[in-house]
Amino acid sequence: MIWYPYEQMKTMKEPYKIIDAEGVYLYTEDKKLIDSISSWWSVIHGYKNPAITQAIRDQADHFSHVMLGGLTHDPVEKLSRKLAEWLPGDLDYCFFSDSGSVAVEVALKMALQYYVNKGDMKRTKLLSLTHAYHGDTFKTMEAGDDEDYHFILEAYGESQHVRHIPPTIEALEAAFAQDHEVLNAFIVEPLLQGAGGMRMYDISFLKRARELCDRYGVLLIFDEVATGFGRTGHRFVADVVLPDILVLGKALTGGHIGHAVTVANHKVYQGFYSDDPAHALMHGPTFMGNALACRAALASIELFENGDYLSKIRHIEAVTRRELEGFTSPLIKDIRIMGGCACIEVYDADVLKGFQAFAYERGVFARPFLTYMYTMVPYIISDDELITIYDTMKAWFRR
Ligand SMILES: *Cc1c(COP(=O)(O)O)cnc(C)c1O
Repeated sequence: MIWYPYEQMKTMKEPYKIIDAEGVYLYTEDKKLIDSISSWWSVIHGYKNPAITQAIRDQADHFSHVMLGGLTHDPVEKLSRKLAEWLPGDLDYCFFSDSGSVAVEVALKMALQYYVNKGDMKRTKLLSLTHAYHGDTFKTMEAGDDEDYHFILEAYGESQHVRHIPPTIEALEAAFAQDHEVLNAFIVEPLLQGAGGMRMYDISFLKRARELCDRYGVLLIFDEVATGFGRTGHRFVADVVLPDILVLGKALTGGHIGHAVTVANHKVYQGFYSDDPAHALMHGPTFMGNALACRAALASIELFENGDYLSKIRHIEAVTRRELEGFTSPLIKDIRIMGGCACIEVYDADVLKGFQAFAYERGVFARPFLTYMYTMVPYIISDDELITIYDTMKAWFRR
């Protein structure tokens, strides 16, 4: 049987069974649902996108997969060239993997080994944010600060290798003043912390982080697995503040196949480039650079480039502000909006119990968690569909 994610299997309610999906719609046997969260924020062009589907079909006629150990191929070469040219600055060196968590693991390993390769064994500590989420594998959980994973702290005790700070300049300066000699990297979800509760903070924090990282030689890692490809209204937050290592996942393939990439700048790459085999990056996911995924990613990037997505996202943000801003209820603690993301935070998690079934009846798929009712819509959504989602959310509070 299937063991479902994040669920107490004993009390879990039956999941909705999807028999088809197209555009913003998921189809069950008897319902047509607008997907308000893009299958964990990934399906930015909607389901069954014809260009992406065709690219996958074409590639499957040649080969679906060959390993990158000792072999290479056109799709992975084209995608790495495309990313190098498309991403800002000298973020040019692409290490592929099969999921966002693994790509973050790779980034953290890169940052640590960068200093070990230099013979600097002191820099073993990582700085990250409170409420951070960087994935579900062990090191990413340690870097993260998600209350669902605090059983790790209970089992292992406080980590000696990670320090968490809130996204304030004061806390940042204090952390650097105290720990700069032992820090190897500062990892952040830039501007928008997703799984930690759609928390938003100001760009000035990241600008100051860049300055301090430069001054003290600490690597800056942007985990843009969720924020990349327009979610914050920027193409990448890396376009505004340049990190040393950038991690992309989720929407990389337009959500059509799992894949992720860790992109390093020239300085980081040079830290591994030598005559010493021990300086190599020892990582190699079996399915890294999967040909179907690379073709899907190339097609997705082409759609993003040619479809004027940033105006689409600006429009989504404007409609969202019009529909949600100023909406009040005594149950609501805060409403946050940024680019293609909106969140209504309530005081009490019990308030959201039953919302998923309520939305389902009204033709919307939603998946609130803890005290957060949120949207991360596909960018191809129409105004009417968007308004249906927000009307459904508001109707829940007006019952
Ligand atoms: C989803 C997510 C990850 C993990 O990606 P997976 O593909 O689920 O392993 C890492 N970082 C952030 C910011 C994410 O939102």
